[in-house]
Amino acid sequence: MTDLHWSAMADETVRLLQGLIRIDTSNPPGNESAAASYIANILHENGITPTVIEMAPGRGNVIGRIKGDGTAAPFLLYSHTDVVPVEREHWTVDPFGGVLQDGYVYGRGALDMKGIGAMQLAVFLAIARRVQAQTCAVPHRDIILAATADEETDTDLGIGPLIAQHPDLLRAEYGISEFGGYSMYAAGKCFYPIQAAEKGTVWMRMRARGKPGHASVPHDDNAVVHLARAIDKLSRARLPMHMSPTARAFITGLADGLGGAHGAGIRAVLGNTEQNGSPLLEHVVRDAGLAAELRAITHNTVTPTGLRAGRKTNVIPSHADAVIDCRTVPGFGAAEMVDELMHALGNEAENMTFEVDSVSPPIEFSTATPLYRTICQTLKRLDPAGIPIPSMLTGATDAKHVAKLGAICYGFSPMRFKQGEHFSDMVHGHNERVSIDSLSWGVRALYEVVSQFTGAA
Ligand SMILES: [Zn+2]
Repeated sequence: MTDLHWSAMADETVRLLQGLIRIDTSNPPGNESAAASYIANILHENGITPTVIEMAPGRGNVIGRIKGDGTAAPFLLYSHTDVVPVEREHWTVDPFGGVLQDGYVYGRGALDMKGIGAMQLAVFLAIARRVQAQTCAVPHRDIILAATADEETDTDLGIGPLIAQHPDLLRAEYGISEFGGYSMYAAGKCFYPIQAAEKGTVWMRMRARGKPGHASVPHDDNAVVHLARAIDKLSRARLPMHMSPTARAFITGLADGLGGAHGAGIRAVLGNTEQNGSPLLEHVVRDAGLAAELRAITHNTVTPTGLRAGRKTNVIPSHADAVIDCRTVPGFGAAEMVDELMHALGNEAENMTFEVDSVSPPIEFSTATPLYRTICQTLKRLDPAGIPIPSMLTGATDAKHVAKLGAICYGFSPMRFKQGEHFSDMVHGHNERVSIDSLSWGVRALYEVVSQFTGAA
C-alpha cells in the first residue's frame, strides 16, 4: 500500500464517521436501524450483500462477510452504533453535525464508538475491494463486520439476542472491538493497552432485618440503622487483593516500560498478598489516578447506588435495602463476592442478607495467541517507541456476548492521542471528538493487523 492508499483510506474513514455521527442514535431510544441501513447501503455499493436484522422495531443490526478460503475460522470486527445522549447546551458545535474543526471530527460517538466503527468499515471495504480486484490474496478466514444496536443501556436489544438467535452469523475464532489499542502516557512513555479482560458485574440488594415497631418507642434493632452501619462499614472495608494473569501482565508491562524507581515502585505491587495488598498499593504508587486504576483491576469492588426503606414516618420497618453495584475480577462470581462482603461486615453481617439481581461474569483471554502477537508487532512497527501491554476494563462491553460464541476478544481500537489527551476523559463527554491524525494512524494500524492476520495481504 502506498501513501496515496493510506491517505485515501483516512479520508474515507473521516467521511464514514461524519455520516454515522449525522444519524442520531442516542440511546434511549436508539433508532439504530437508520445507521444499519446507512452501512448496509455502503456494503451493497461495494459488492457485499449485507444482512440486516432488527431485534425490536427500529433497533437494527447489520452484518457483512468477506468470504475466505475456509482454511481457518472466521475473524470478527464488531462495533455498536448507539451512543449515549447529549446535553446540547454544553456543546460548542452540533453534536450530530459531523463537524470538522481544527483537525478534529466532532460529534457524539466520535470515540465511543462510531469512530472505531468507521475505521472497521473502512478496513473491511478496503479488503473487500482488493479481494474483488484480485490485488490481494483471498483471506484464509472469513472476515465478518457487525455493527449492532443497544450497547449503552442494559435493555439488551443488540448483539446479545442477535447472537442467541443467529449464532452462525457471528461465530468467529477471534473478535476485535472497543476499549484498548489507543495511546496512554505515563511519565513521558507511550503505552498501548490492549484489552484482554473485563471485570464482571454483580448487581444485588443488601437487606437489613430488624424488629418492626412504632417510631415513638425507639429500640436497638432498627433495620434502617443496621443498614446505615453496614454501608458505612463496606465503604471503609479493605477487600482482599486478587492478582489475575491480565492484572499481573499489565503491572509488569507498565513497570518494565517505566523502568527506574517509578517502575520498581509499581512492580512492588506484585509482591503484595491478598491481605496486605490494598494499603501497600497506595503506599507504593504515588499517582492517585494510577493507584485507583490498579486497585480496581486487582480487587472486587462494592459501590452502594440506592436505598429503599420504610413507608410511613412513624413506623419502624422490618427491613431496609441498599442497592449495590459490585464488580468482580476474573475468577470471581456472585457467591465469592457475597462471601467477601459478609466477611467485611463482621458482626454487622448477622442482620444482613444478599439478593442477587443480575450477574455478568468477568472475561479474560490469553495473550499467547497469534492475533495478540500480530497486534503488538504492528504497533511496534508503526510506533517503535510505543509499548503494548495487556489491560483489563473495569466496565463491560459487548465482548461478554461475543465470548459466548467461543471467540477470543480483544479491545483493539488503535488511536494515537497527544500527550495530555485521555480517552477516558473525552468518552461520553461534551464536545466528544477525535483528531483526523488519530483516525488516519488508527485505520492504518487496524488494516495492517486485519490484512496480515487473515492473510488478505
Ligand atoms: Zn462503547
